[in-house]
Amino acid sequence: MRSLMFVKPGELRFDEVDEPVLVDPTDALVRPIASTTCDLDHHVIADKTPFSPFGPFPLGHECVGTVVAVGDECTAVSVGDKVGVAWHIACGTCAQCSIGHPARCLVHGDAQYGLPVNGQWGGTFDELIRVPFADYNLARLPNGVDPIHLASIGDNFALGWETVMPAIEGIDAPKVGVFGGTGSIGLYTVDVAVHCAKAHTVYYDDDPVRMAVAEKLGAEVHDINGKRDKDFHVAVDASCDPDTLRKALLSVVPEGTVNSVGIYFADVTLPLLSLYQRGVNFHNGKGMARPNMTPTLQAVADGTLHPELVTSGIYPWEQIPDVLTGPNPGHKPIFILDPA
Ligand SMILES: [Zn+2]
Ligand SMILES: [Zn+2]
Repeated sequence: MRSLMFVKPGELRFDEVDEPVLVDPTDALVRPIASTTCDLDHHVIADKTPFSPFGPFPLGHECVGTVVAVGDECTAVSVGDKVGVAWHIACGTCAQCSIGHPARCLVHGDAQYGLPVNGQWGGTFDELIRVPFADYNLARLPNGVDPIHLASIGDNFALGWETVMPAIEGIDAPKVGVFGGTGSIGLYTVDVAVHCAKAHTVYYDDDPVRMAVAEKLGAEVHDINGKRDKDFHVAVDASCDPDTLRKALLSVVPEGTVNSVGIYFADVTLPLLSLYQRGVNFHNGKGMARPNMTPTLQAVADGTLHPELVTSGIYPWEQIPDVLTGPNPGHKPIFILDPA
């Protein structure tokens, strides 16, 4: 089969590799229907991460697909099921997984698809994917939904739910500020904040394309360099920019919540005295996709969420290397392997 490899910054290619096989009775094999980039992948390709020297390695950790084989001990998924694949590889039952922290799985650690971090699990731009603990790591898609626009359900899309919904619980008339910049995560967050949290949602960015999407999703949209509100119950930093992170941190009500989903590969100076005086609950860490995939999928099935508005383009599989290394990959390009 073919596997999309990150070779070096700006260079991707398809390599012929052996197909994965079922190893454990809890494994499944999934063939992608559609795969997409995590916002992080664009930074990997652009040489903005420490992964550059580790190529070639399989890239990609977001897809929806069809189950084509299951081990004897799989009971929740069957051959033919359409599923979302969690980006992380987690056991589902250890002390961390069982409290909703699969990205901190005690069995598989940092293991994931599409980055050279812990083991060889391939990427979601492979034509076949081995999924350990498939009953846990796969989420069946609801009937009647178009799988294409759910390609991000196993990471960035579910992160939209995770960054907003638990933090607004119990707040009347919530107000959410989303500080965009990385690509899709801020936009999925807007979708959840507007339509699921019913929050007054303000989106800040300097990119006219993303700003137009956020407006279509129902946010009030402002240039990041203009005047900003400072009364958000929840602010989400989806920027990877230290100045924007600072703005997000100083934008919440006393004892408000700031979730940073951008990744900072270098130390950042923080206004700690201001944060102390304001009282800020700051979370920075990997997304815990799997428990957040289920409510996100349900909201899509209900017609509440609109991930199709976040999709920036739909392309044939063959074009993955050219689109992703080209001048305008878009904030959420989706690539089709098998028509649904
Ligand atoms: Zn990711
Ligand atoms: Zn675990």
